[in-house]
Amino acid sequence: MPQLNRQILLVSRPTGAASVDHFRLVDTPLAALADGEVRVRNHYLSLDPYMRGRMSDAKSYAPPQPLNEVMIGGTAGEVVESRNPRFAVGDFVVGTLGWQEFGTSDGAGLMKVETSRVPLSAYLGVVGMPGVTAWYGLNRIIAPKAGQTIVVSAASGAVGSVVGQLAKLAGARAVGIAGGADKCRYVTDTLGFDACVDYKAGNLPADLAAATPDGVDGAFENVGGALLDATLERMNPFGRIAICGMIAGYDGQPVPLAQPALILRSRLLVQGFIVTEHLDLWPQALAELGDLVAQKNLLYRETVTQGLENAPEAFLGLLKGRNFGKQLVKLI
Ligand code: NDP
Repeated sequence: MPQLNRQILLVSRPTGAASVDHFRLVDTPLAALADGEVRVRNHYLSLDPYMRGRMSDAKSYAPPQPLNEVMIGGTAGEVVESRNPRFAVGDFVVGTLGWQEFGTSDGAGLMKVETSRVPLSAYLGVVGMPGVTAWYGLNRIIAPKAGQTIVVSAASGAVGSVVGQLAKLAGARAVGIAGGADKCRYVTDTLGFDACVDYKAGNLPADLAAATPDGVDGAFENVGGALLDATLERMNPFGRIAICGMIAGYDGQPVPLAQPALILRSRLLVQGFIVTEHLDLWPQALAELGDLVAQKNLLYRETVTQGLENAPEAFLGLLKGRNFGKQLVKLI
């Protein structure tokens, strides 16, 4: 009897908030490998906010996830069978094999990783797509100078935590915005940000003003809505804002800008970006991030949910801030 592969499919699209009903867990027999193919036992599945966009078929920069197919997602795992000369059994690899226990690939988009310096799971976070996102937005859009003040929202998360630490390494003052006292304490006490504002405490504009006495020179926006409004108010003339994400609106909530005229008044540069459109810079970014992690000069935190069947619930939690650091699902 062929071995079974547990998979999670997207079976319907949300009209408002996403729910577990949009996903279905199935068992599918594994087909024999064809020549050139490789089979990977996924150890970790990465859950990322962009997946919410793929669940919808609204116009976006990326095509929607097809219905009744394995949900898209980054994975890290081990080669368990290979008919591809580039991969041997026992190799650790990262790729985009989706929400399933076993992935089958022709090798395209599969990258071998070395796990003695950097743990396997980190290749989905700090030394992976989220880390490169932080690196790109900070270095290529904000380009902080020593002494400048940089604000980042979702500061305890996969991207935000890296932004603030890289800003500190560049000699800037890093100010985070995060949801809750625990996350803020981690951001300052463990990650070394200069300050962190808890937007759930209810005084965001005043608290952010107190945390940024010299104004804000660069902002890395992950959330949008009230958080971006408060940040815009603090921007210094000719400040730069990297628009990375607008997670406050991903479940369909409107996220209007309260005072767009501030962009003009402060002559701001506001630049959105998509990290996968800058693949030429990934090798440099990944090398730098890997070195920093190996030297313990770049710290990270993970929320690890056990079992593929719990991936939908964990994903919905990510959209509500229930994760604390990079959200992963452990499959083995
Ligand atoms: P995180 O690890 O930061 O997790 C998401 C965090 O967002 C939550 O922990 C929560 O933090 C915050 N959040 C969730 N829902 C809301 C809400 N409704 N209002 C306010 N805050 C909320 O995720 P990532 O680091 O992976 O992603 C951060 C951002 O970067 C996202 O917007 C994502 O889409 C974007 N991104 C963009 C890329 C690009 O190429 N442009 C690539 C990768 C990511 P808290 O509890 O502190 O509120």
